[in-house]
Amino acid sequence: MTTILFAAKRADWAAYEAPLRQSMADLGVSADLVLEADPAEVDYLIYSPASTVQDFRPYTRLKAVLSLWAGVESIVGNTTLQVPLCRMVDPGLTEGMVEWVTGHVLRHHLGMDAHIQGQDGVWRNDVVPPLARDRRVAVLGLGALGSACAQMLAQLQFNTLGWSRRPKDISGVSCYSGEDGLRQVLSQAEIVVLLLPATPQTENTLNAESLALLPRGAVIINPGRGTLIDDEALLSALDTGQVGHATLDVFRAEPLPPEHAYWQHPCVTVTPHIASETRPVSAARTVMENIHRHLNGAALLNVVDRATGY
Ligand code: NDP
Repeated sequence: MTTILFAAKRADWAAYEAPLRQSMADLGVSADLVLEADPAEVDYLIYSPASTVQDFRPYTRLKAVLSLWAGVESIVGNTTLQVPLCRMVDPGLTEGMVEWVTGHVLRHHLGMDAHIQGQDGVWRNDVVPPLARDRRVAVLGLGALGSACAQMLAQLQFNTLGWSRRPKDISGVSCYSGEDGLRQVLSQAEIVVLLLPATPQTENTLNAESLALLPRGAVIINPGRGTLIDDEALLSALDTGQVGHATLDVFRAEPLPPEHAYWQHPCVTVTPHIASETRPVSAARTVMENIHRHLNGAALLNVVDRATGY
């Protein structure tokens, strides 16, 4: 009998058990879905960063690890893991990220803060927001999440630019790649959305040098990972006005320590890693479809490339 171990955060079992069992029934996956098992009898392991399993060597029968998280930086370098690792690509997670990114882009594009925070009885109608078509927004990272966000921004008629490691062709999005591509994108972008994974190559993508390329007053929106930004460089750029505002959802240390300068800075919005999350019903389906494929001899989907780290 095939054994599937739910080794993600224990508290999430209540939300995941029923959707996982429903997906098993819908797809005809015949297996034991369990919370505890003899490691030597586990075939598939459902994982999240809070998992108690960090040493995979006792899992001698393991065929694949299925992450409930899209970001896999906590496990990708684990040398005890010798079987395929699949990251989460979940329609619900994507939907939430598109909503969050679109909302925060529109906040800055429309200048909402001026009216939400500045209501003082004075009728100021001298500044009318430009149309989206006249606003250049860049999305760094054009994977499952970044490409969906870029497509939504393009549908809203934003002048949308995108950047990824490999060249891409996305309708309505001017796509760039490579170091020169990054310079071209940043030198145009009035709003920059970061949806890159945390890897050694993406660390400090936004640093003093790259921030200086931006048009003065540009806005940074980071729902990707804290490591994408050199924090000191960003704080300096905010202080000089080179960067007009930063909306940050992810940080090098989470929770963000109470004394961190980001909490106090007037041009920073902190959100507590809530841009989106994996949704149990749709994610359970994704996990079970992958196991079903593998049991039937098909290739696993969304396998992490251990060399690139995502
Ligand atoms: P994907 O793996 O689908 O996409 C990653 C994208 O980044 C790809 O377009 C990839 O390029 C690009 N990329 C990777 N390395 C480089 C590089 N060195 N230079 C240029 N481009 C690079 O990931 P997802 O879209 O699913 O997720 C992105 C990230 O979002 C996750 O890793 C996670 O950190 C974060 N996240 C945050 C959440 C939140 O609530 N704040 C929730 C979920 C995820 P290419 O296409 O060429 O491979």
